[in-house]
Amino acid sequence: MIEISDLNKYFGKLHVLKGIDLKVETGEVVVVIGPSGSGKSTLLRCLNRLEEPSSGDIVFEGLSILDDENNDINKLRQKMGMVFQQFNLFNHMDVMENITLAPIKLKNLKQAEAVSVARDLLDKVGLLEKEKAYPAQLSGGQQQRIAIARALAMSPDVMLFDEPTSALDPEMVGDVLKVMKDLAAEGMTMIIVTHEMSFARDVADRVLIMDEGIIIEEGNPQKIFNQPEHPRAKDFLSRVL
Ligand code: ATP
Ligand code: MG
Repeated sequence: MIEISDLNKYFGKLHVLKGIDLKVETGEVVVVIGPSGSGKSTLLRCLNRLEEPSSGDIVFEGLSILDDENNDINKLRQKMGMVFQQFNLFNHMDVMENITLAPIKLKNLKQAEAVSVARDLLDKVGLLEKEKAYPAQLSGGQQQRIAIARALAMSPDVMLFDEPTSALDPEMVGDVLKVMKDLAAEGMTMIIVTHEMSFARDVADRVLIMDEGIIIEEGNPQKIFNQPEHPRAKDFLSRVL
């Protein structure tokens, strides 16, 4: 579904992604871990061109996302749901408006249809009773579950998560991870940057360890957590496990 080849990203002179190669198959759950500053967010943001790659290519569903002549980046973005550490809900809109805005505007869904889709999603994230609430009236964990529902409302083909639980109080983390776990079980393709190692162990098909702009280790969770090979991977894991 996604094929990244020789992806490089510079911020000025700072070489942040150094020739990343990565293939993600449909239905795969890939968890990316690694030290702060290793380039995890930048990698995720390059996938939908929130950051502009410096060189290399990213092919999504057979089309290069960098090929502006032949495809529309906004259309591609609609197929990639993204959830950030900060929930980024529209604070002046209630939950229902937050979720239905993009489907109505960008997918031309009728209001009633969009509302019906939104209610299904609110049910899925366990917040059916909150459709009239404003973000300020919700806990962090609830806001993040709404942000996930909002992303899902566009029926994306892949979901990108950048530390979705890092800004949450500990008691809120489980509810959000549960929603993500359910999504994985339903076969959603997901790329997840997280510090939740037990979640990675349980849910990932594949774990990548990034360090200084390179994928230094990759494999299934058993291999990564029990038999890491790269010295810096061992060092990182010894600090987080
Ligand atoms: P963390 O775990 O702290 O979120 P990360 O692995 O997500 O870290 P990135 O945010 O991708 O790391 O950052 C990688 C490097 O690129 C860092 O050195 C960071 O300072 C730098 N960087 C990121 N965004 C920018 C930017 N917009 N301008 C300049 N430098 C940036
Ligand atoms: Mg980051």
